[in-house]
Amino acid sequence: MVVGEVAEGVDLLVVGAGPGGYTAALRAAALGRSVLLVDRLGDAGIGGVCLQVGCIPSKALIEVAEVAHRSAGFADAGLTVGEVSVDLARFQEWKAVKVGGLTGGVAELLRRAGVEVAAGEFRFTRPGSGVLQSADDRPPRHLEYTDVVLATGSRPVELPGLPRDGERVLSSTDALALSSLPASIAVVGGGYIGLELGTAFAKLGATVTLVEATDRLLPGVDAALLRPVRQRLRAVGVEVLLGHRVEGLADGVLTATGDSGEVRVAAEKVIVAIGRRPNTDGLGLARIGITPDERGLIPVGPDRMAAPHVAAIGDITAGPALAHKATAEGEVAAEALCGRPAAFDPAAIPAVVFSDPEIAVAGYSADEARALGMDVAVARLPLSASGRAATMGAVEGFTQLVVDRSVDAVVGVHIVGPHASELIAEGVLAIEMAASPVDLLASIHPHPTLSEMTSDVARVLLHQPAGATVPASAPAAS
Ligand code: NAD
Repeated sequence: MVVGEVAEGVDLLVVGAGPGGYTAALRAAALGRSVLLVDRLGDAGIGGVCLQVGCIPSKALIEVAEVAHRSAGFADAGLTVGEVSVDLARFQEWKAVKVGGLTGGVAELLRRAGVEVAAGEFRFTRPGSGVLQSADDRPPRHLEYTDVVLATGSRPVELPGLPRDGERVLSSTDALALSSLPASIAVVGGGYIGLELGTAFAKLGATVTLVEATDRLLPGVDAALLRPVRQRLRAVGVEVLLGHRVEGLADGVLTATGDSGEVRVAAEKVIVAIGRRPNTDGLGLARIGITPDERGLIPVGPDRMAAPHVAAIGDITAGPALAHKATAEGEVAAEALCGRPAAFDPAAIPAVVFSDPEIAVAGYSADEARALGMDVAVARLPLSASGRAATMGAVEGFTQLVVDRSVDAVVGVHIVGPHASELIAEGVLAIEMAASPVDLLASIHPHPTLSEMTSDVARVLLHQPAGATVPASAPAAS
């Protein structure tokens, strides 16, 4: 700040208006703080990547693709439909209305809570001060804050040999904004985004090739959960190229190198989805004594405090880059900065892949639990045991329970199948409450529903012989 510039006092500053940031802002306001929420995009940034260009738009596309595709799958049940087509231009209009409704709702909550929202890039100048620079010609605002929550999120990693141009080489954001369906798409990266978007575009009718550098899709997810997904990928015509690292384009054609040499993939569009990197580089963190780690993540304590009066949450801290983790951390950070005892200490952070079928996991895998020295029992119930699944025409999948016998508590729940994303919440609750398999079995589940799989798999676990692991076949539920 130079002589003559006037600093504005800010009680509690939140940087970044995504799910973490706006949650922190609302919680702090509810606790009586006067809050300024800043985002590079101002009001247009409310909801962040999740609402604007991530979770919500992608689920809209996945839903439409699934409905379009599924209607053809009931011919055996006597259902005949005419030719189904999807107009992506109209989809974009519909999606914009849905996203606008949701972001408008959050904006209204912020308004009612008395949170001021401002546009601009914030960077620290020294402890307790920073400058907010807007993209237009407005002069920078010099802010002197009492407390600050950093919630700046992450951005897609780019491949040096395949820079995004928004035309041929697309980020997931570009892909979700397409208003016409490309004939062919190559997706680089077989992680969350690659699987979700690759499957959706294939269902809409594009020829999709998924290229993954490692020898499996979704590295880090239990291989058994992937089997039904691989089957569906084959069924919808997605070609999967494992063990091939994409380097770039040669003569306009995508090149990937693997053990068998170089493979060329001709595609009208290339979607690059190889991970995300935290937005911590432009914040001037060195000026307030914060040093991000080698991945750019800000070290924080259980209360999410990174330095005195500075909290950091969401994708810029260690752990999965998931909206619901950021939201939970936003609550903790706001409480901690308001002098309340608060800690982010979940027993399980669920992870969901909106693949086909969906994969949802919470807690430990059996291998992880064993590595931690737990006395592990595992039971798995195939979806073919579910009457409700049969009526949905869905038979591929399972629910798996991992229990630590030494404390008689559920420590892991893994589901692959329709609506796994919804069903996992009960698993999270079970882990968080240290429920026993008996608790799950004694809680009467409605019939006929997919949710019965959770109590039925507990029955399998309780009734299987001591020492048995995953049963080859499980009793069918009526
Ligand atoms: P990801 O980390 O899930 O997967 C990236 C994949 O790209 C990995 O499998 C990696 O091996 C592969 N890869 C890296 N370099 C490559 C190369 N040169 N050639 C071929 N493959 C290569 O990343 P993502 O799919 O970009 O998603 C980013 C993050 O966003 C996720 O990790 C997740 O945290 C979040 N996300 C969550 C959801 C959800 O909750 N349903 C959905 C989408 C994204």
